[in-house]
Amino acid sequence: MPISIMSIPVLQDNYVWVLHDTTGEKTAVIDPGDAAPVRQFLDAAGWSLDLILVTHHHHDHVNGVADLHSHYGAQVVAPAAEASQIGRIDIPVHDGDRVPFGGEEILTIATPGHTAGEVSYYLPHPAALFCGDTLFSLGCGRLFEGSPKDMFHSLARFRELPDETLVCCGHEYTESNARFALTVAPENHSLRLRAEEVRKLRQQGKPTVPSTLRSERLCNPFIRADSAEQLGQLRALKDRF
Ligand code: ZN
Ligand code: FE
Repeated sequence: MPISIMSIPVLQDNYVWVLHDTTGEKTAVIDPGDAAPVRQFLDAAGWSLDLILVTHHHHDHVNGVADLHSHYGAQVVAPAAEASQIGRIDIPVHDGDRVPFGGEEILTIATPGHTAGEVSYYLPHPAALFCGDTLFSLGCGRLFEGSPKDMFHSLARFRELPDETLVCCGHEYTESNARFALTVAPENHSLRLRAEEVRKLRQQGKPTVPSTLRSERLCNPFIRADSAEQLGQLRALKDRF
């Protein structure tokens, strides 16, 4: 595979995702909520930074952007709809826009719900979805600026993506998501296995992501919801969990 995918844990429980194209020596990061650990990572690897992709305007996803942009001269890709909140954007993107990286094209998918302008990014080879705070492993984002209907339609956008797609989400929330998911789908055998795997990984201090869309389709009650109403009920229950 010419593009490798890595994660850097930052802040409390955020992940900054790193794409590195070994052929062209290009590097991209997604949602740098903090600059220092990203700089450290890139320095250790001996890489510069070419592209910064942002899913939405929350500070835990953008706080490192200005520093990394000025230090490396990396281009900032972010949703045009959130330009006023994000600040300088070199490449404002809309639904369906493609951003070239390492001989591939990263597809922009509008996924409102958590914020009104949030986007997800899909890399076809290797298949990976950078879904910010829209889809989490075993969960979905809080509906700060959107309705259950918005989130339902956003999650439905992922239906056309292949099963093996890596789900590279913005937070390590899987263990608490698993506890909630088991209360609403205690009979789901795949979920029980995944919850056990997650418990072991966390016990060893290891990340539980990326997961795969296959796993989420089997285990995640939010992506499995078959109506906006059902998703809304689940989200309301989770908010009080
Ligand atoms: Zn957020
Ligand atoms: Fe976040």
